[in-house]
Amino acid sequence: MPDLWGRIAFGPIPSRRLGRSLGVNNIPPKVCTYACTYCQLGHTSKMQIERSTFYRPEEIAQAVEAKVAQAHKAGERVDYLSFVPDGEPTLDINLGREIDLLRPLGIPIAVISNAALIWQPDVRADLAKADWVSLKVDAAREPAWRQVDRPHGSLRLDDILHGLLDFAQAYSGKLVSETMLVAGLNDGEDQVREVAEFLGRLRPGKAYLSVPTRPPAETYAHAPDEDTVAQAYRLLNEKVEQVECLTGYEGNAFAVTGNVEEDLLSIAAVHPMREKAVSELLARAGADWTVVQRLLDHGELVMSDFQGHRFYVRKLQNRQSMSSRDSPSLEDQSPARQPLTDKVAMVAYHAIGRVENAFTQPTMSKEIETDESRIVLDPALIEGLEGLEPGQKLLVIFHLHRSQGYELRQHPRGDPGQPKRGVFALRSPRRPNPIGVTEVELVAIEGNVLRVRGLDALDGSPVLDIKPA
Ligand code: SF4
Repeated sequence: MPDLWGRIAFGPIPSRRLGRSLGVNNIPPKVCTYACTYCQLGHTSKMQIERSTFYRPEEIAQAVEAKVAQAHKAGERVDYLSFVPDGEPTLDINLGREIDLLRPLGIPIAVISNAALIWQPDVRADLAKADWVSLKVDAAREPAWRQVDRPHGSLRLDDILHGLLDFAQAYSGKLVSETMLVAGLNDGEDQVREVAEFLGRLRPGKAYLSVPTRPPAETYAHAPDEDTVAQAYRLLNEKVEQVECLTGYEGNAFAVTGNVEEDLLSIAAVHPMREKAVSELLARAGADWTVVQRLLDHGELVMSDFQGHRFYVRKLQNRQSMSSRDSPSLEDQSPARQPLTDKVAMVAYHAIGRVENAFTQPTMSKEIETDESRIVLDPALIEGLEGLEPGQKLLVIFHLHRSQGYELRQHPRGDPGQPKRGVFALRSPRRPNPIGVTEVELVAIEGNVLRVRGLDALDGSPVLDIKPA
């Protein structure tokens, strides 16, 4: 069986919702539309919202068929084929085709999605092919959503909530929702009440309430106390008939399908395993702890302690390099970059607001620099405006959210008639970190809206900071 197949199909693993679930990993690590604080896969290494081809659909189908055959041969039951990958499954433009190709196996198909792209009709059409769909609803208001899920800057929660309702209305399979509660980020009574109101309109067959039970991307993302979870349960239960808490561990019955190293790595890639689960898997395979030690020594597995338990997780960096070997179809052709140190490999900022203006497409027009723009600040930050005066010059730092990839040497303003120069000698939006900085004039402050002149940012640009020039 090709090595790549072992990473595409894994398990079966015990699932609290799906019984014995054979995982389909259709996204390389870790490409996602979100960078959730609680993500058990670690930090998002590539954030994107454009759907792409990552693997050939036929390759996915072959990998899953082979894994199902292996599982059956080993006497393992498979209740569901579950798209639960190293990122967001609907980013895969071939998701619908892959579901079609897996149909002949006669096993129900599940997709666990964060719903970030559900405002797109093609995403809804792909999801509609699955028998069971789980959609994430962590918050019903932008500030909490941005804090807990840390979405791609150009996503809007309103679009997603409308897309969710559209999908629920048309879908004939089993629809469930999942809400992850993180202490201090989205577990306030009002925040949960808003989620409950929304779920009351969505009408999922069941609303799952979960808390982080495995090592999260951010150490501060931890579970609320029992009283808060109980209160959230009650609030959801007032609006949705069936609510279930997923606050416990799902058990250790991970399947052995032949190659114990491959089983360990493919499961630990998407599902951090407790020490006891690893021991039990080794015992069932007739192997001992030297297998784990070898993987630890080779840097393929890493240990992580969380809430009094030791977990084993496949190391993300190895997974990234393997994935780029195996996925020549990934669209980002930017030069490969090595992080300076592990600590500065990825820095995540929350947008403090967004730009609103008439410019929706990249333009060379001078108007974009002279017309007025509105900076709509997160209302929670309004106190931070104290001391600003109309007429003042400000620096606005923003994310160039339409920028894709970069070259280190480029023609100034994209004009092939001019000799190429280094990207750091240019103002090109196509740069290693797509951040824009512009000096603007503050025209007026209206509540949480700053009217400014001279901002060359496109409509919807996430604003990262504002400071005096
Ligand atoms: S929890 Fe899911 S949606 Fe959130 S960052 Fe991780 S993979 Fe993406």
